Amino acid sequence: MQSQERKIQAPVPNLETKAFWDAAAEGKLMVGKCNACGKTYYYPRALCPFCLSDNTQSQQASGNGVIYTYSVMRRAPIPYAIAYVTLAEGPTMMTNIVDCDLDSIRIGRAVKLVFKPSEGGPPVPMFTPV
Ligand SMILES: [Zn+2]
Repeated sequence: MQSQERKIQAPVPNLETKAFWDAAAEGKLMVGKCNACGKTYYYPRALCPFCLSDNTQSQQASGNGVIYTYSVMRRAPIPYAIAYVTLAEGPTMMTNIVDCDLDSIRIGRAVKLVFKPSEGGPPVPMFTPV
C-alpha cells in the first residue's frame, strides 16, 4: 500500500468528452458502442473508430478488466504504475493501477474500476487488483 497519494492532474473536458467526464463524476465509466458494426471502443466518441458510422451510443462499463500490460514508474517522486487494461466489454484503455503493492502487479491479473480524485477536475478512472 502506498503511504502517499500521487497528485493527479485534472483532465480538461472538451465538447466531445464532456459527457464522459460528467458520467465519471457520478462514478460511471463509459465506453462507446457502435450500432452499425456492434463493436465497443474506448474512449466514447461520436464516430465509430472501426467503421466510421455515426450510429453510436455510450454505455456504462462494468468496471471489470484484466491487465494487458503495465510499466512501473519507479523514478517518479511517488512511484506509480501505468497500464493498459482490457475491459470486460472489449476495449483496452490506458490507465493507472492503484491501491496495491506495485510489485504484485502482473499481466493477466483481474482488476476493477476505482475513481481517483484529480486536482480540481473530474475524478479519473483507474484500476486496482481484485
Ligand atoms: Zn462501427
